[in-house]
Amino acid sequence: MQVINRIDQMKDLIRDIRRQGKTVGFVPTMGYLHEGHLTLMRTAKRKTDFVAASIFVNPLQFGVGEDYEDYPRDLSRDTELAEGAGVEAIFAPAVRDMYPPGYATFVEVEKLTGKLCGRSRPGHFRGVTTVVTKLLNIVEPDIAFFGQKDAQQVIVLQKMAQDLNMNVEIEVVPTVREQDGLAMSSRNTYLAPAEREAALVLSRSLDMAAKLVDSGERNIPFLKSEVTEFITGEPLAKIDYVDILSVPDLEERETLEGKALLALAVYIGKTRLIDNVILTV
Ligand code: AMP
Repeated sequence: MQVINRIDQMKDLIRDIRRQGKTVGFVPTMGYLHEGHLTLMRTAKRKTDFVAASIFVNPLQFGVGEDYEDYPRDLSRDTELAEGAGVEAIFAPAVRDMYPPGYATFVEVEKLTGKLCGRSRPGHFRGVTTVVTKLLNIVEPDIAFFGQKDAQQVIVLQKMAQDLNMNVEIEVVPTVREQDGLAMSSRNTYLAPAEREAALVLSRSLDMAAKLVDSGERNIPFLKSEVTEFITGEPLAKIDYVDILSVPDLEERETLEGKALLALAVYIGKTRLIDNVILTV
């Protein structure tokens, strides 16, 4: 296992791996690894010969007043966990190397980023698409792995890869959950015990909606209001958004047809959590 900080060294390593005729899998993360990240890494290990992961808390995707400074970081623990999951190289660049003084180039996907998290967090997806483009240019993987946990992110990244003719396959890995249903997230560490319990309202509301759909419900405004009411019943929860949109276009619809994304962002105390399910009829 190698931990590489410098961009030129990472490029040299990948060039060596390529010369050996190996395929490269890549898992970009912000670190503080949990079973969700490790599942992405194990999947990458199954599908490619050499797996690299990045650990980079990207300042560009955090808004003013968000948790960039407080975001949990533990590189030595992450290195050990990633190695156990089959990662052979960790790329952990410095912010000043990724965005040196005078940095001026950004990647923006329009339309899709005006909904859901893009509406609540202006500039967030511009930060994500810019850093992912830079990381993909450095690592040049055959396949890059992302989690369904961040449903809008994968839709935006797939659109970016397609529109910019990138030589990478974007592979989506299902959301990994705690035993009680809470979607794993590095931000779950912020939750006090009572908040951890209250946070179950997210996955439970998704389960409830999926059951309504299974029993024949197709009315999208009704499903949204049921989910909203369910979450409002939890005193520690405050809804940022509850939405049901078509995939992959993220358009509003009245009636459920085919596949739709039910996505939530909910504050539990000060912690903003997201979760989603694909509703299929
Ligand atoms: P992050 O470190 O939060 O930026 O996440 C890095 C990658 O891990 C992203 O592709 C996320 O979608 C993915 N990820 C985060 N949490 C989970 C989870 N619970 N299940 C599956 N993938 C996840």
